[in-house]
Amino acid sequence: MRVLVVEDEASLRESLQARLTEAGFTVDIARDGDEGLFAGREYPLDVAVIDLGLPGLSGLELIRRLRAARKTYPILILTARDNWQDKVEGLQAGADDYVVKPFHFEEVLARLQALLRRAGGWASPQLKCGPVVLDTRAQTVTVDGTPVELTTFEYRILEHLMLRAGEVISKSELTERLYDQDFERDSNVIEVLVGRLRRKLDPSDQLRPIETLRGRGYRLSLPRDAAT
Ligand code: CA
Repeated sequence: MRVLVVEDEASLRESLQARLTEAGFTVDIARDGDEGLFAGREYPLDVAVIDLGLPGLSGLELIRRLRAARKTYPILILTARDNWQDKVEGLQAGADDYVVKPFHFEEVLARLQALLRRAGGWASPQLKCGPVVLDTRAQTVTVDGTPVELTTFEYRILEHLMLRAGEVISKSELTERLYDQDFERDSNVIEVLVGRLRRKLDPSDQLRPIETLRGRGYRLSLPRDAAT
């Protein structure tokens, strides 16, 4: 999942970048509202974290402009303590949730994961498609109850496909969400990773969890568990 962090305070921005990367996100950062507007418009994001107190273009104005530009990914705002007007205005501008500063990183992470799940139509942090279960909190995967060891990139691909199970995801979309702006992109790598993922999830080639749609991309083809 690709996240944009817009925060002017360097230590906070850097710690969010490090912790979110550790948690399996691809992280883009912006130091003020103008950088945030550029990144928020140009990069294929899944979610954004925006501090409301920014130099230059304010956080509120940034959110309004992103929504006016038809950017629909969920937005989590960071607000100052005891400023209820900020929260209300932020939500009215188009944000989806807020966290009050100072916060524990775990709270930001839990809220981001919840926003992403809901954007994908999932209610629970455990995503189930047929026998495949992916736990977004523990970042673990099982097939028929047996744990499957995945690399970070394999996990990210599977998480993205499962969050949007049933939808066709293009190879370029997967590539863009796997790597941040500083990374050399190569869609052949995606083919290799998807191939490895298939073998790990389905060593006997019975389940066929990931469909290839020639020229269009990939689709997680197992049925979603309605209860989750
Ligand atoms: Ca600030």
